[in-house]
Amino acid sequence: LIDDAVLQGIEDNVELAPLHNPHNLRGIEAARTALGAGVPQVAVFDTAFHHTLPEQAYLYAIPYPLYRRHRIRRYGFHGTSHRSIAYRYRKLTARARADVRIITLHLGNGCSACAIQGGVSIDTSMGFTPLEGLVMGTRSGDLDAALLDFIAAKEGLSLSQVEAMLNSQSGLLGISGLTNDMRDLLAEANELQDRRARLAIEIFCYRARKYIGAYLAALGGADAVVFAGGIGENSAEIRARICAGLEWAGLHVDAQANGALVGGKEGRFSVEGSTLEAWVVPTDEELLIARDTFRVVSGGT
Ligand code: AMP
Repeated sequence: LIDDAVLQGIEDNVELAPLHNPHNLRGIEAARTALGAGVPQVAVFDTAFHHTLPEQAYLYAIPYPLYRRHRIRRYGFHGTSHRSIAYRYRKLTARARADVRIITLHLGNGCSACAIQGGVSIDTSMGFTPLEGLVMGTRSGDLDAALLDFIAAKEGLSLSQVEAMLNSQSGLLGISGLTNDMRDLLAEANELQDRRARLAIEIFCYRARKYIGAYLAALGGADAVVFAGGIGENSAEIRARICAGLEWAGLHVDAQANGALVGGKEGRFSVEGSTLEAWVVPTDEELLIARDTFRVVSGGT
């Protein structure tokens, strides 16, 4: 429930989320001005779902005092989406929360993976900022930190210009040199045989598959890989390409079921009996935010 202490907390963390917190504060203030201080407001944090990450997953292997002094750690993002996907998967499969052991892939313009055990997040691919992890529309995801200095020196850029490049000129856009829109990339690759469009798609799918492998190890096996986000919910081709080669892990794609899951449909697309199932479960962050808000303003926790 937003009170002065919560507002101060968001303000205190502006340096950790410079692209988000100042705008969110302005929105809260505008709503307060328009509606009056008597109308309660609730803040739902995208990092909250990942507060269950164990130290081994959230600490970077850098000098420990940096964590103490500057709160440098992996926070993870897209938490409301991963929580929404896990919640809906649990309903669809009639499981208890403690029995949810899945890998969720939110693939949109921003992309992240999450390893969920006992219904809670135990690892996720975004880190201190949303730059880490999977290949995204315009973000590089994982790379060697030594590249920052190297690129800056070679290209005559400042470190913050390199960081901006990694955030807004990289990923699918950077590799293809064409677009960050997966629909257009697929058309360029399939219809016009564009080499770099094809390469961008390949690197995108390979990185996602690597994370599935890593999270299978982190979880000690999983029951399902669950896709969501604009790409995850709409592109059967990308889902198939990410899942290709995971038969060793027990995931066998049913091509027909996969092809039918577009435009917000939900369901399983692995063949009956796959020990690692594949699902599409559209994310519904707004619903969770509404439920959280209702619970908080009606006095729940
Ligand atoms: P989001 O950020 O979740 O809205 O997702 C945006 C991304 O979803 C963009 O890269 C779109 O190109 C992609 N997308 C939406 N529809 C499709 C589709 N039918 N096939 C492939 N990608 C799609």
